Amino acid sequence: MSTGARWTELLTCPNCRNSGLLQLFQPSGSTYEYRAESVPDGFKIVHTECGELYWCRGCRREAIHSDAGRLHATSEQIN
Ligand SMILES: [Zn+2]
Repeated sequence: MSTGARWTELLTCPNCRNSGLLQLFQPSGSTYEYRAESVPDGFKIVHTECGELYWCRGCRREAIHSDAGRLHATSEQIN
């Protein structure tokens, strides 16, 4: 049985404006680590050294989601 926190965030592609709900899971005892349990249609999970990123399949670019801290960490990607 896994314990932890589950929540959803709004995932949006800055290019085509496709959006949907991203479902995330954080195991108990972990502060920064989390992973997606499901991504909306049209998006995919990309694993990197820094964790998971969520990409728009159609545009092949990183989508943004509603976690503000995360957004800052990856904002240089935009452009
Ligand atoms: Zn897109």
